[in-house]
Amino acid sequence: MDLLTVLVLNLIFILITTFAFQFIIVNRHTSMYRKYAKALIIILSAMQILFCMSFTLIGNENFIFDLRLIPVVLGGLYGGPIVSIILFIIVAAARFPLGGNGIWVNFFNMLTITVFISYISIRFREYPLVKKLYTVVGIAISYTILIFLMKTAIFRDPSELKFVIIYGSTLTAGIFLVTYFIEITKQNHFLHNAMINSEKIEVVSHLAASVSHEVRNPLTVTRGFLQMLKDPSIPEEKRLYYLNTAIDELDRAETIIKDYLAFAKPQSEITSSISVNDEIEKALELIIPYANHFSVNIKKDLMSGLHVTGEAPKFHQCILNIIKNGIEAMPEGGDLMISSREKENGFASIVIKDTGCGMSARQLAKLGEPYFSTKAEKGTGLGMMVVYKIIHEMGGTIEVKSKLNDGSQFTITLPLYNP
Ligand code: ADP
Ligand code: MG
Repeated sequence: MDLLTVLVLNLIFILITTFAFQFIIVNRHTSMYRKYAKALIIILSAMQILFCMSFTLIGNENFIFDLRLIPVVLGGLYGGPIVSIILFIIVAAARFPLGGNGIWVNFFNMLTITVFISYISIRFREYPLVKKLYTVVGIAISYTILIFLMKTAIFRDPSELKFVIIYGSTLTAGIFLVTYFIEITKQNHFLHNAMINSEKIEVVSHLAASVSHEVRNPLTVTRGFLQMLKDPSIPEEKRLYYLNTAIDELDRAETIIKDYLAFAKPQSEITSSISVNDEIEKALELIIPYANHFSVNIKKDLMSGLHVTGEAPKFHQCILNIIKNGIEAMPEGGDLMISSREKENGFASIVIKDTGCGMSARQLAKLGEPYFSTKAEKGTGLGMMVVYKIIHEMGGTIEVKSKLNDGSQFTITLPLYNP
């Protein structure tokens, strides 16, 4: 194989595996990625390094030309100093059996690069995009110059200029392309998460009105009882009853406010075992004022002991978004049924069913698209998109059945938690 074929083959492999890594692991299994980022980056980079080293061009003095520098540099920059050192060990170990004089030049170059990369990797992830690109391009060009100078000076084997240009430009363009690609996919992912948060703020502000309405009721009732207590002639028994009712009403108001504030507060992102029922109950507590406001009657039929894996606040929001849509589909009142079951093959299913306005086939097809909403200025059209994204991240699926003027049924299927 000639140099260009080798380099192009290397680059294609690196691009494809990085692509798969970003889409499958970083975007879809974000919580797993966060937990094992270093190990996963090492595995990916090691795979790329070994591939590059199996398709190389062996020149004079056993100098080996391939693009293994790309995984070494990017793995180190994104993974940090420890990853960088481990990758250095892998490259050195894999290079040794091939022998030749090139080995020492390679060892020295890789060591220099590892030290340099370990140092800048501490800051690299905070660099703006352009600075990141400058950095990697700078590294690729310096490396090319370094290796050819050494080859010429030490081994008196002046390389052909054409060779230098092909190698240097493929390496530089390759590292630029891969870095740019990683950054763009990361940015998309970041925007997606930002969207989830803005949708939550939207839900928080929608619920605020019904929460304050719901809190006003107990306050009015309490005020009424206190007013009556002013009358000194009421019997002791009645007085006690008034007092207890007033206290109960105040407690209820307090619970509503507490739940609401707990939801509105930013949440930590910890993946753990989630109790399906607890989260459904929490979502119901929060949404009941809203349901009352629309005269919607919520019924539940929950199976206890179901656990799934994910971030509890996100799952909670998911349930809340679907129930909220159900309620909004029944402005004249109706029934909303929520049930949970264990399915035979290690899955949990949660069904949320309403007797509302339903959706036409065309609307159904658009469900989950960002900004698709039939609620004019009252809707954001982000609720279902968020739901799909969260359930997807948890490894689950959603099935929606809906009939215009008849109602809708959302079935969420999620793998059960297995410790
Ligand atoms: P929003 O609620 O802000 O409009 P969503 O993404 O939550 O945005 O929902 C998108 C659209 O899907 C809604 O505007 C509505 O037309 C439709 N929809 C969602 N859930 C239901 C439901 N349970 N019944 C009828 N239509 C629904
Ligand atoms: Mg909605």
